[in-house]
Amino acid sequence: MKLEIELVPSTVWYSSLYQLLPKEVWNKIRNSIILERGRKCQVCGETMGVMNLHEIWSYDDMNHIQKLEGFVLLCRMCHNVKHIGLSGMRAMKGELNFEDVSRHFCKVNGCSKAVFEKHKATAFEIWRLRSQHQWMQNFGEYAQYLRQ
Ligand SMILES: [Zn+2]
Repeated sequence: MKLEIELVPSTVWYSSLYQLLPKEVWNKIRNSIILERGRKCQVCGETMGVMNLHEIWSYDDMNHIQKLEGFVLLCRMCHNVKHIGLSGMRAMKGELNFEDVSRHFCKVNGCSKAVFEKHKATAFEIWRLRSQHQWMQNFGEYAQYLRQ
């Protein structure tokens, strides 16, 4: 699957690199990645609109270690898919159309609505389990930015 939902456990919601870094440091990382990879969504190829820098985390479910593996540039819609929980909340407030988000998932992955629903249910189940734990965070090579 090209575009997958990735839900961050609620116990580490407020300690992403994005939240920990000063805005200007984050923007510097984002701009350097845009220069290096080009200004386009690395998942669907979209070139219009704002490109979001998305943190890629891996999860060691045995030892409860969350590790920052790197970044991916995402268009607004792909980013909405990644953070589908937040998108659901924003849809309830009328800030976005949830149907557009599910349609984008199906278009990029070339799949049906049923596949989307199943993938979403699995992602929420994993999120529920992972949110029961405290996670040790490993910022890997990006820890240097936190020391600046
Ligand atoms: Zn995209």
